[in-house]
Amino acid sequence: MSEAEYLTVQQALTAVLAGVSVLPAERVSLLEGLGRVLAQDVIAQDSLPPFANSSMDGYALLAADLAGASSDNPATLRVVGDVAAGAVPDIKVERGTAVRIMTGAPVPPGADAVVPVEDTNEAWRNRERPLPEQIQVNRSVKVGDYIRHSGEDIEAGHTILAKGHVLRPQEVGVLASLGISEVEVIRRPRVAILATGDELLEVDQPLQPGKIRNSNGYTQAAQVLALGAEPIVLGIARDTETAVRQKLQAGLEAKVDLFISSAGVSVGAYDVVKAVLEQEGNVGFWRVRMRPGKPLAYGSYHDVPYLGLPGNPVSAMVSFERFARAAILKMSGKEPLDRPTVQATIHSEIHSDGRESYLRAVVTRSETGYEATQTGDQGSHIMTSLVKANALLIVPEGVRYVAPGSQLTAWMINWPETIF
Ligand code: AMP
Ligand code: MG
Repeated sequence: MSEAEYLTVQQALTAVLAGVSVLPAERVSLLEGLGRVLAQDVIAQDSLPPFANSSMDGYALLAADLAGASSDNPATLRVVGDVAAGAVPDIKVERGTAVRIMTGAPVPPGADAVVPVEDTNEAWRNRERPLPEQIQVNRSVKVGDYIRHSGEDIEAGHTILAKGHVLRPQEVGVLASLGISEVEVIRRPRVAILATGDELLEVDQPLQPGKIRNSNGYTQAAQVLALGAEPIVLGIARDTETAVRQKLQAGLEAKVDLFISSAGVSVGAYDVVKAVLEQEGNVGFWRVRMRPGKPLAYGSYHDVPYLGLPGNPVSAMVSFERFARAAILKMSGKEPLDRPTVQATIHSEIHSDGRESYLRAVVTRSETGYEATQTGDQGSHIMTSLVKANALLIVPEGVRYVAPGSQLTAWMINWPETIF
C-alpha cells in the first residue's frame, strides 16, 4: 500500500481539477437545456420585436393631430378601423383619423404614435362594445409614444447568447422567442455514487444490531442532482474487493464520467477501496489537511476519474462540497467553481487544530455586514448541524485560535432565502 501524501486543500483541489475536463456538447430540446452551458454562440435570425407594435390598448394616430390637446381642449379624431393582436392592419392612418389598436398589435401604416385608451373618452370594458365612430383624446403624445419598435430588444444577425452562457428561464424564453427549439449544450456529467461498508443497510430496511442506513449514497446523489448532473446510484458494496469491483463495473457499463465513493479510504483493516484502485487504476491517497475530511482518494478507475470520500457523513458531504462539486462544475463547463463567500463576524472564540477547518454555521445579514454562529456540535457524524447550517466558516490552515469579533470567510452553501 502506498504512503499517503499530505496535501493542503488547495493542492488537493488543483490535482482533482487537473484530472477532469469539460465534457462534449450534445443537442437537446430547449427545455432540456435549462441549467446547462451553451456550447456555441446563438445568433438571432429574427429581430425582436419582429414588427412595430403597440405597448397599450389605445388608438394609433398621428402625433401632430393631438398638438395642444388636453382634457379642457380634447382633440376629436374619426375612427377608421380596428386592429387586434395577431391581425395585419390594412388601413392607412391619415390626418384626422385613428385606428383602435390592442397591445401587441402591429402599428398600422401612417400612424406614428399610440394614445392609451385611458386618455380618451372610450375606455371600453368589454369585447362587445362596438367600434366608436369618433373619439376624443385628452392629451398630446410625441412621435413614437407607446410604440415598441422592431429590433428594440434584439437585432437580427447579432450574437444574442455567447458560448459558455448558462441557460436560465429567461435565456430559455429569449431562445423560444427566436424560434430556437433545440440547443447545443455541454453534456450533463454522469456521476456514479457508491457507498461501501459492511455496516450499511438500504434506506428502507429496519435497523439491525451494529448496522446503520446508507445515508451518504443519498446525500451525494442529491448533491449531484442539485448541480444539474446525473447521479448513477450504484448502491452499497460490502467491504470486499470483489464487491467493490462488481459495483464499479456497473458504473463502467453505465458510461459514467466520474466515480464518487464514500468510506473505505482510511487506515482501517477493511478499507478495500484503496486496494481495488491500486490494482485497476491510477490512484493517489491523500491526507488533506482539512477538517472535517482528511482521508481522500483520488485517481481513476479504468480511465474514469475517481474520488473516494471519507465515510463519516459530514466529512463526506463537506469533501464533496469542496472537491467533487468543483470537478462536476468544471465538467459541466460552468464557472465559478467555488461557492460565493462573504466575510462574517464571529461572536464566540474558535479553537482549531491547524488544519483548514470548515465549521458548520448560520450566516445572517446585519446592518453592519454578516454575522456567523456555529450550529452546534461539530463532530463529523453530527448531520443535524449541517441541516441547520447555510454556510461553512473557514478557519485557515495554521490558525489555532480565532478571537470573538474576528472575521472569517464563510463559504455560502446557500443564502438564507434559497434552497440550493
Ligand atoms: P470508514 O471510512 O469506513 O472508516 O467509515 C467512517 C464512518 O462513516 C463509520 O462510522 C461508518 O459507519 C460511517 N459510514 C460509512 N459509510 C457510510 C454511509 N454510506 N452512510 C452513513 N455512514 C457511513
Ligand atoms: Mg468502513
